[in-house]
Amino acid sequence: MNIQEKQNILDKIKEYQRIIIFRHKRPDGDAVGSTKGLREILRLTYPEKEIYLINNDFSDYVAFLGSEDEPRDDEFYKDALGIVIDTATTDRISNPQYSLCRELIKIDHHINNEPYGDLLWVEEERSSSSEMIADFYLTFSDELKINKDAATYIYTGMVTDSGRFRFRSVSGDTLRLAGMLLDMGVDLDTLHANLYMKEFHTLKFQAYVYDHLKITENGVVYLHVTREMQDMFSLTYEEASASVSYMESIKNSLIWLAFIDNEDGSTRVRLRSRFVTINSIAEKYHGGGHACASGATVYSEEEASSLIADADERLKEYKANNEGWL
Ligand code: AMP
Repeated sequence: MNIQEKQNILDKIKEYQRIIIFRHKRPDGDAVGSTKGLREILRLTYPEKEIYLINNDFSDYVAFLGSEDEPRDDEFYKDALGIVIDTATTDRISNPQYSLCRELIKIDHHINNEPYGDLLWVEEERSSSSEMIADFYLTFSDELKINKDAATYIYTGMVTDSGRFRFRSVSGDTLRLAGMLLDMGVDLDTLHANLYMKEFHTLKFQAYVYDHLKITENGVVYLHVTREMQDMFSLTYEEASASVSYMESIKNSLIWLAFIDNEDGSTRVRLRSRFVTINSIAEKYHGGGHACASGATVYSEEEASSLIADADERLKEYKANNEGWL
């Protein structure tokens, strides 16, 4: 299964002296973990090659994993192989200089609406791109080298993108690959402390969220994180965005939405659901994503209200036609 795609990618990596890795804008644990993990594996395996990870924006959340490489001028990219991981569409690639690379590889687990690049390896059913990097290592473990740092980066991507191995996309393979990484010495205590300890002001914000969230007739929970709220609780954009997860376990509410005001006046929408498919709603509002985790953008109160109404209708329909939900 997909062995030929992986083999082609390894062969291409061997052909190049300079390889530059890219990921998506507003990176999450998976985007950072998968790219740093692959960079480490390739550096260990091919010390004579130049392997870089060059992007234009960073994540506070997983900053503890360490730095990436410095920006370079256009000339630097000309003879390089580019590898883009965890990024469904080219407009979401963090570093626009990716287009200057001589050849490009796409490795991703999102729906393949835009199959870009000279070589592609996309597995939509994988729980994370990091899982694919773990699988890539395992497939060629006779040739590739790995260490505890690389294992930690990749495990971080897997644990964060799978909601601590709880999401539907988690398979036996996910856990076997995570087990392989744990055996390489990942320090779970330190990793979990870095990922899940919270600032006190964040917990106060969480309390505020529970006091202010709204619920529709059919059980869609939603929250609007205004610029004022972001200032009031001194929230970073990432902290404000994380509020979507506070709403995930309310009984009877199978869809939950966080509206986070952007600096430019638009509002980011993070859509999440249990059992119910919601990416078609995100697609209607300038977005897209997975069946149960999508993103969108709205540009007015009317558009926000319309999205909420669509989600409410979707949930009503689901509840009328299905049993066994909570
Ligand atoms: P987010 O809430 O931004 O983390 O988005 C959840 C998922 O939806 C991500 O994994 C993205 O793949 C996808 N997504 C978010 N925003 C967009 C967008 N504007 N277009 C397409 N997919 C998106």
